[in-house]
Amino acid sequence: MPKYQGSCHCQAVIFEVESDFKKTVRCDCSLCKRKGTVINLIETEEFKLLKGKEHIILYEWNTKVAKHYFCKTCGIYTHHKRRSADAMGVNVGCFDHLTLDDLEKIGKVEGSSLTLIEKR
Ligand SMILES: [Zn+2]
Repeated sequence: MPKYQGSCHCQAVIFEVESDFKKTVRCDCSLCKRKGTVINLIETEEFKLLKGKEHIILYEWNTKVAKHYFCKTCGIYTHHKRRSADAMGVNVGCFDHLTLDDLEKIGKVEGSSLTLIEKR
C-alpha cells in the first residue's frame, strides 16, 4: 500500500496513512452529517501520527465508543477510532494529493442506525 501524509488546515497535526483510498464513505450519523466529510476507512496499524499530539482534542458523544479527534487550533476533524478496536477513519479532505473527484466510489455508512443511548 502507498503511504500518504495528511494534515489539519493549520498544519499543527500531521499524520501518515498506508492506504489506496478505495474504501471511502459518507456517514449519516448526526455528527458526520454536521461535519460533511468523506471518510477513508483504514485499520489502526495503517495510521501513524507524525506531529501534533498536543494539538489534538478528543470528542466523544452518546455511547462514547468511537473516539473523534480534531485540531484545537483550526477545528478540522482529522481522524477517528471506530467501534471495533482496530478500525479507524481519516478525513479525505486532509490529503493534498487527492480531491473528492479522484475517488472511484464513495460508499455509505448508516451511522444513524447504530445503537444510540439517546436520539439527537
Ligand atoms: Zn490545525
